[in-house]
Amino acid sequence: MSEKPTKHTKVLIIGSGPAGYTAAVYAARAMLKPMLVAGMQPGGQLTITTDVENYPGFADVIQGPWLMEQMREQAKAVGTDLVEDHIQSVNLKSKPFEAIGDGGQKYTADSIIISTGAQARWLNIESEEKFKGFGVSACATCDGFFFKDKTVAVVGGGNAAVEEAMFLTKFASKVQLIHRRNELRAEKLLQKKLMENKKIEIIWDSVVEEVIGDEEPKNVKGLIIKNTKTNEMSELKIDGLFIAIGHDPATSLFKDQLEMDNTGYLITKSDSTETNVPGVYAAGDVKDKIFRQAVTAAGMGCMAALEAEKYLASN
Ligand code: NAP
Repeated sequence: MSEKPTKHTKVLIIGSGPAGYTAAVYAARAMLKPMLVAGMQPGGQLTITTDVENYPGFADVIQGPWLMEQMREQAKAVGTDLVEDHIQSVNLKSKPFEAIGDGGQKYTADSIIISTGAQARWLNIESEEKFKGFGVSACATCDGFFFKDKTVAVVGGGNAAVEEAMFLTKFASKVQLIHRRNELRAEKLLQKKLMENKKIEIIWDSVVEEVIGDEEPKNVKGLIIKNTKTNEMSELKIDGLFIAIGHDPATSLFKDQLEMDNTGYLITKSDSTETNVPGVYAAGDVKDKIFRQAVTAAGMGCMAALEAEKYLASN
């Protein structure tokens, strides 16, 4: 079989969340003909959310997947070359930079904007792994429907856990939110809504020790939880477990090539999206563990495109 011809671009955007698409819109409108490689989960984390009330410009509640579809269409309309591939390796030492897709496609680029986002974090206990997809999930929007009139538990105390717990009450008869401390990290307004929801019960100061279930057919029956203050163990009968304990940045691709902090987030210069390699920019959740909002990611995507444009003009 003959090798696929290399695809060259002035701006290669890796990742298709709000940061990637916004970078694409700005780069395309600067006549840079960007190429955006969408990755494994086109549209990113917003495609597994439902209601979005905090993205500016929409007085009525919009849906995450719809918002991402609109961003994609906008990027395409202004001239972005949208590519369905997943980058599996990069070489940031070569000039132009090189990237290889899953099927072996080679890309070369004069500048790169990294917007690979972040992935859901798991508890990393053996029984969680065993029941993943059989009652253990990290996405209430994707799997909540399967728990109609059932009892489910959500682990976590941040905005995501609270939102997932509330979302799950649309299906489940009861939702138990298990949090390792006695105080939620989530925004006060969300906490208020959570407390007002009669279907939700909060289990404070507790961690999941084990997921219990049947082998044949494989399904979840309950949890063993530990009170972190008393070390007391107890059993909780549930039919589904949703993990909402945060995310890890998708940066393994750039290990030993770009500077990262000790949790793997890419480091950029102050007030800039530029990484330690000139011409390589990072935008969105891949470099931001503080704000992690669609609108902040989009803002950084814009910054990255403007910085790439300036870099290309002077090189
Ligand atoms: P997060 O804010 O980092 O919260 C993670 C939660 O999981 C924390 O409560 C943490 O406990 C808990 N946790 C972490 N590791 C754990 C473990 N191994 N076992 C048990 N519990 C564990 O993550 P997030 O809720 O996914 O939110 C991420 C970001 O997205 C935040 O900035 C958030 O504001 C934003 N977000 C915003 C919205 C919105 O605006 N509508 C919606 C979703 C997310 P501790 O509190 O004890 O650390």
